[in-house]
Amino acid sequence: MEDIEYEINVLKKIVSYNTDSVTKSCYRECAEAIAEEAEKIGLKAEIYDARHKAKDGLPRPNVVATLDVGASKTILCIAHYDIVPAGNGWKYDPFTLKVEGGRAYGRGAADDKSAIATLLGAAKKVGKSAKINMKILATADEEVGGELGLGYLINDVGVSGDEALIVDAGTEILSIGASGIVSGTITVKGIQGHAGYPHKALNAVEGLCKLVTNLEKFKSFRENKLSKFDAPPGSYKPKVWGRFSVTMLQAGMKSNIIPGAATATFDMRLLPEEDVDKARMEFEEFISKVDLGDPRYKVELNISLSGGNYFTDPSLPLVQNFRVAIEKVTGKTIPIAAELGGNDGRYTSAKGIPTICYGPIRNDTNFHGVNEFVWLDDIKSVRDAICWYLTH
Ligand SMILES: [Zn+2]
Repeated sequence: MEDIEYEINVLKKIVSYNTDSVTKSCYRECAEAIAEEAEKIGLKAEIYDARHKAKDGLPRPNVVATLDVGASKTILCIAHYDIVPAGNGWKYDPFTLKVEGGRAYGRGAADDKSAIATLLGAAKKVGKSAKINMKILATADEEVGGELGLGYLINDVGVSGDEALIVDAGTEILSIGASGIVSGTITVKGIQGHAGYPHKALNAVEGLCKLVTNLEKFKSFRENKLSKFDAPPGSYKPKVWGRFSVTMLQAGMKSNIIPGAATATFDMRLLPEEDVDKARMEFEEFISKVDLGDPRYKVELNISLSGGNYFTDPSLPLVQNFRVAIEKVTGKTIPIAAELGGNDGRYTSAKGIPTICYGPIRNDTNFHGVNEFVWLDDIKSVRDAICWYLTH
């Protein structure tokens, strides 16, 4: 406990700001507190605000705190200070850090303010003994896509490095990639009419039902696609697999009107190494061949989101050495795997920066839920693994 007193105090300070990613409250105060703390331990801190790019005109300050030891290599250590709303039913005030029984409770105590405290603690501990320059990026808006957070720092400000560690992750795996997404809507159009005269109409709901039933085949087709990378332990398949789900249905406006249009929303998850355009084309081709039993039905496919999948070659020194760092500190060898969801690594990997994810947000920490907490042991072990990596 005494060993991480510094980290707990930093965490206490930054958890006190309600940095709600929806309202953007306290963004500026929190970013300034982080920058101030970084300067206090000898880092050079700068704040880059993407406010001018925000449609709502609200601040989007992003902190870059640099530990420059004059090394030829720089690692970007990435975390975010925005949080999801606290919600109701907490046993403690979500904005007053409560340390109890080896845990520290608070909204953002794990996701992802623990990472900021851990990174500042690592920088303080290694100081000039680091053999790699370290840039801590504490960003805004991760919970809402990160375009004005990490995306802004990487794509607009031009923050760069030789490797990246996303500390918005757990200790269960060393993550070397993520599943991207293709999502959007499929609309079936029929002919609207009076429910008393169905012979004069063409029911779009019936057309959409046939289409959704047919999509079972596409789902199996996707499930047969297997990544060369392992899925996290306990997953449905040992390797990351292709997934396809219909997630929303919309049709009809009144009980006596036969709807002329019906829409299904879908979510398709890609393999880390999958070609996005090819995946899109396969889906478009499948949809174009579905027979709805009446040639008057029209089907429109609209893809609103696609991409974000990436992977880092597990044989790279970043992956191998960081795994050794974890072993040295914890005595455990953890699996190297790719994630079933997406993460901010898409921004760094898109610039060709090898990217891994490891951090103190263990699966059981109720992140995004009520009574979120972080294990104090995880703050210590993640900090020490980062220190080991920086000094070896
Ligand atoms: Zn997070």
